[in-house]
Amino acid sequence: MKTEFISQNEINLSTLTHAGEILRCGGLVVFPTETVYGLGANALDSTAAEKIYAAKGRPSDNPLIVHIASPDDAEKYAHIGEEYKRLSKAFMPGPLTVIMPKRNCIPSTVTGGLDSVGIRCPENKIARDLIKAAGVPIAAPSANISGKPSPTSAEHVKVDLDGKVDAIIDGGECTFGLESTIVKIENGKITLLRPGAITLDMLNALFDNVEVADAVTNKLSEDARPLSPGMKYRHYAPSAPLYLLNGSDEKRIAYCSAAGEDTLLLVFDEEAELFSGHSIITIGKRGDEKSQAKRLFAALREADATNCKKILAPMPRKSGIALALYNRMIRAAAHNIIDL
Ligand code: AMP
Ligand code: MG
Repeated sequence: MKTEFISQNEINLSTLTHAGEILRCGGLVVFPTETVYGLGANALDSTAAEKIYAAKGRPSDNPLIVHIASPDDAEKYAHIGEEYKRLSKAFMPGPLTVIMPKRNCIPSTVTGGLDSVGIRCPENKIARDLIKAAGVPIAAPSANISGKPSPTSAEHVKVDLDGKVDAIIDGGECTFGLESTIVKIENGKITLLRPGAITLDMLNALFDNVEVADAVTNKLSEDARPLSPGMKYRHYAPSAPLYLLNGSDEKRIAYCSAAGEDTLLLVFDEEAELFSGHSIITIGKRGDEKSQAKRLFAALREADATNCKKILAPMPRKSGIALALYNRMIRAAAHNIIDL
C-alpha cells in the first residue's frame, strides 16, 4: 500500500479531518503523542484493530491501548470508579494508561481477549485533535515493528511501517520518549504495571495502596503469567547483547576505557570526549534522566545500525522517572548486569 505522509507544516484542520476519516473508515494512521508514536485504528472496529497486529507483526494476545480525546469519554468504553476519577483529575490528559473492566462495545481483538481495557487520553494536541476528527476512540500500540524499540520520531516510523499503513503524521520528536505509565484498577486496588513519566511517587501521593507488579523490575520466570501481557515479550533488545554496568561513574568509565574495539559504549553526552578511538553513542546528559528517557530508544536503534558484538551502558537508578528507564533498559539487556 502507498503510505501518505503528513509533514509537520501540513498539519491543519483539513489534513487532520482527512486522517480522521481514514481511521473512521477502518484504515491505519500513525500519529505523534508525548510518549512515543502510536499506530492507530478505530477501537470499535474489530477488523480495523486486526490490521494493527498484522502491520506490527504483534502477537494477538498483546492488548492495544484505547486513546480518547477527553478523560470523561472513558465511561463509554470502561466501567470507571472513584479511582479513575482521581487519576484522571490529577494526570489527564497526560502520559498515563488506566486499565479497567471493559464495556461490550470494545471488541476483544482490541484487548487481546482480556475483559479489561487500557484507556489513555494523550496530552499531545495533534493526537487529541485527530481523535476528535475521527469521532471514534483510537486503539493504538507503539508504531514499531514488534520487538523493536518504540519510535520517538516520524523517521523511526518510516523505517518500520512505510507501505504498511495508510498515513503517517509527523509531529516531530516525542517530548518524553518512553511509553505511558500503566496502572490497573481492580476492586479498588491500584497496581503499577509499567513505569513512565507519571512516577510511582506521583501515584503514591494520591493513593496509599499502590502495588508494583513484579515484572516492573524483576525477571519473570518462563511460566509466569504477567498482569500486563506486553511484559512477557522480548522488547527493545538490540541485536548485540547489552550489559548494564552497575557501579560508580569512575569505575564505569575505567571499565569502558578498557573495552575492545568491537564493543559499543553508550555514554552520557559530557563523557564523549573521554572515549576517542572507541565506538560510542551518547544517551543524554548525566544526572538528567528526562534527557536520557528522550534519547534511549533512538540510541538503541542507532546501536543496531552498527555491527558491534557487545554493548555496554550505565545502569539507571530505580527511583523517580529513572524507574521507567531502568524498566526498559533491564529488558533490553535481558537482565544482564555487570557489578563493578
Ligand atoms: P504499547 O502501546 O505498544 O506499549 O502496548 C500496550 C501495552 O499496554 C501492552 O503491551 C500491554 O502490556 C498493556 N495493556 C494494554 N491493555 C491492557 C490490559 N487490558 N491489561 C493489561 N495490560 C494491558
Ligand atoms: Mg509497544
